[in-house]
Amino acid sequence: MQYYSTNKSVPEVSLQEAVTKGLADDKGLFMPDHINPLPASFFETIEQLSFQEISFEVAKAFFGEDIPEADLKQLVFDTLQFDCPVVPVHDKIYSLELFHGPTLAFKDVGGRFMARLLGYFLKQKNNRKQVNVLVATSGDTGSAVANGFLGVDGIHVYVLYPKGLVSEIQEKQFTTLGQNITSIEVDGTFDDCQRLVKTAFLDEELKSKLTLTSANSINVARFLPQAFYYFNAYARLKEQGLQDELVVAVPSGNFGNLTAGLFAQQMGLPIKRFIAANNENDIVYKYLQSGQYEPRPSVSTIANAMDVGDPSNFARILDLYGHSHAKISSVMKGFRYSDEQIKEVLLQVYKEYNYLLDPHGACAYKALSTDLVAGEMGVFLETAHPAKFTETVEAIIGQGNVPLPEKLAEFMKGEKLSVPCSKAFDDFKGFLLREAK
Ligand SMILES: *Cc1c(COP(=O)(O)O)cnc(C)c1O
Repeated sequence: MQYYSTNKSVPEVSLQEAVTKGLADDKGLFMPDHINPLPASFFETIEQLSFQEISFEVAKAFFGEDIPEADLKQLVFDTLQFDCPVVPVHDKIYSLELFHGPTLAFKDVGGRFMARLLGYFLKQKNNRKQVNVLVATSGDTGSAVANGFLGVDGIHVYVLYPKGLVSEIQEKQFTTLGQNITSIEVDGTFDDCQRLVKTAFLDEELKSKLTLTSANSINVARFLPQAFYYFNAYARLKEQGLQDELVVAVPSGNFGNLTAGLFAQQMGLPIKRFIAANNENDIVYKYLQSGQYEPRPSVSTIANAMDVGDPSNFARILDLYGHSHAKISSVMKGFRYSDEQIKEVLLQVYKEYNYLLDPHGACAYKALSTDLVAGEMGVFLETAHPAKFTETVEAIIGQGNVPLPEKLAEFMKGEKLSVPCSKAFDDFKGFLLREAK
C-alpha cells in the first residue's frame, strides 16, 4: 500500500517510509491511498472472534500488502496481550475499556504496535544506524510509547513533556525507565513540545546527521491500529445482540482515536454515528458548529490528555471527507465540557451506577448520555484507568479509595530521570546533536 501526504505536494511513499518518517516532507500527514473494506462474511461471524483475531483481520486490510501474514500475525498478537472489554454502565450505555494494557491507557495499543513494526523493519534492513524516535506528550502518549519501545534494539526514544503539566503518575511512567528512553522536561506547554518535535523533523542539519522519526498519533503505525478496538466493541456488543444503531462517543484531543474510528466505519463497520467529546479545548467542537477551523493555544484542564489547541489529525478528517463541512458534520457531532461539568458527571455516575470514570471518559459518557435517542445503542471509549488521575478523581468523589493497580504502583517506586530544556528550538536541537547518535 502507498501512503500520500494530506498536503499532496510530495510523492507517495511505502509503509516503511511513512512509518520511519512520521510526518511527510511537506508537513502533511500520511494517509493510506486506499481503504480495503472487510467482507460482509467477516461481520456476520465477528462475534465468534477474539479481540486479537479481529485485530489481525483489520491489520491485514491495512498492512497485508506490505508484511507477510505470519509476521503480521505475530506483530498483532504480541501487541495485544490484553483485552478491551465492553462493560455496561447502565441500560443502553456501555464503556469500552481501553485501559487494560501496561500503562493503563488506550495509547498502549498504538505505541506497542508501532514499536514492533519499526523494530521489524529495522531487522529486515539489517539496519545498524540508531533510529531516534521523538515524541511530544501531554501525559499519556509518552508512557505508552516509552513502554512500547523499552528495550527495542537500535531505537532510542526522546519523550518531550510540559513541565508541571502532567500528573505525577503519568510522569513516573516514562521518566523512570532509563535504558533507551530519555525524557525531556520542557519549560512550556504541550503545544511547545509538539512544535519542537515538528520543527526538528524539518531541520536540515538534524535530518542529515540523525535518523529521526515520530511516535505521535500522526504516525500511521500508531494511528491505524486504533481502528482495532472499534471492531471489537461491535463484536462484543453483537455477542449480546446489542450492535444495532450503534453510536460511539470518543474523548478527543489530537483526534487520532476518533479518526481511526472513521476509518473503521469506511471499512464497513456498521457504526451509525460518532460523537466527539472535547474539554475546554473545543476547536473541533467550534468547527462542527461553524465550519471555521481556528486553532488556539491550549488551556490546561483536568482531562489533560485532551489539552490540544491544534489537533494534528484534523487534517486527516478533512482529507477523508474532501474538506466538506457538511459531510463531516453528518458523521459526527461535537460536545465540550468545562472542568466543573466533568467533575459533576464523574461524581454522578459513580454515585448512581457505581462506575468510576476517568476525566476523559467522563466527557464522552456525558456527551453520549445527553445525545443518545430512543432506538440507539451507545458505547463510549474509556481511554484511561481512573487511577492514572488519582488525585483528581479522589478529590471529586471525596474519598481516597481509588486503588492503584499493581502496574502503576511499580512505576511509582522508580526514580525520575529527566533532562530540563527550554522551549527554544536551538536548545532542543543542541541537546539532540550532543546526545543522539
Ligand atoms: C490521548 C488521550 C485522549 C485523546 O486521544 P486523541 O487520539 O489524541 O484524540 C483521550 N483520553 C486519554 C486518556 C488520552 O490519553
